[in-house]
Amino acid sequence: MGYNFIEFKNVSFRYGENMPWVLENVSFQIKSDEWIAIIGHNGSGKSTIAKLMNGLLSPQKGTILIDGMEVNEDTIWEIRKKIGMVFQNPDNQFVGTTVQDDVAFGMENRGVPRQEMLKRLEDSLSAVGMQDYELREPHRLSGGQKQRVAIAGVLAISPQAIILDEATAMLDPNGRKEIMDTIRSVKKKHPLSLITITHDLNEVTLVDRVIVMNKGKVWLEASPRQVFSRKKELLEIGLDIPFIAKLAGHLSQQGMPLKNEPLSHEELLEELW
Ligand code: ADP
Repeated sequence: MGYNFIEFKNVSFRYGENMPWVLENVSFQIKSDEWIAIIGHNGSGKSTIAKLMNGLLSPQKGTILIDGMEVNEDTIWEIRKKIGMVFQNPDNQFVGTTVQDDVAFGMENRGVPRQEMLKRLEDSLSAVGMQDYELREPHRLSGGQKQRVAIAGVLAISPQAIILDEATAMLDPNGRKEIMDTIRSVKKKHPLSLITITHDLNEVTLVDRVIVMNKGKVWLEASPRQVFSRKKELLEIGLDIPFIAKLAGHLSQQGMPLKNEPLSHEELLEELW
């Protein structure tokens, strides 16, 4: 088991002195090798948490520690080397005219030596299955491919954590699956903290732990299965459980309980056949 890589201790945040608190007394820990999902209805404070994690915002109350360092003006640049971010809109993330230039950009900024850069370029594009697209123009790729290149760009700077802030929200179902498969394979190969921020419960089936936010507070911290078992309460806070979890529940009510509650379509098919 890894060590505590990200720690929020009684964090409260508001966007201005006379504004309402958007996070209140939020505490949680994320281990150095854990895949965490932070979920919640729109406006529950998820993106604010992401911005606090990489120092784009600072809390008025409480403490945030990244790799044991408190996030403040003195540590911010050190911390940004440790955390890679992938955002919602794939088109806003490109700076290079080719996939290769784009992935190299972050490394050039950090002064990675050329030989090392070539190796990391190859490794990171292979990790996301985009090794054959080095010379393509990013804006001509599909949404899913663009986000895979964005993930490669982040992997190339060797971060200790990657935050995916609604990274699949603008993708079609195929693109979404591409990204989920990519994250899953990255997770297998790299001992990283992965933080998936989403409002879509379909994306949390594979994570180690889920932090459910509601109105700026941590509402529940549990495994995906435990979260899905609170179907009624989830609906009350604007979240709906995935089809797979619903089907498993339904079959069980019909006297056909599954041996293992499936977390993916593949697992469901295995159980049923
Ligand atoms: P989520 O990511 O869960 O949708 P956010 O963290 O974006 O939630 O927003 C939490 C709350 O903070 C919302 O009420 C939102 O309107 C408010 N908020 C977000 N960004 C700003 C901002 N720049 N200025 C003022 N209020 C903001």
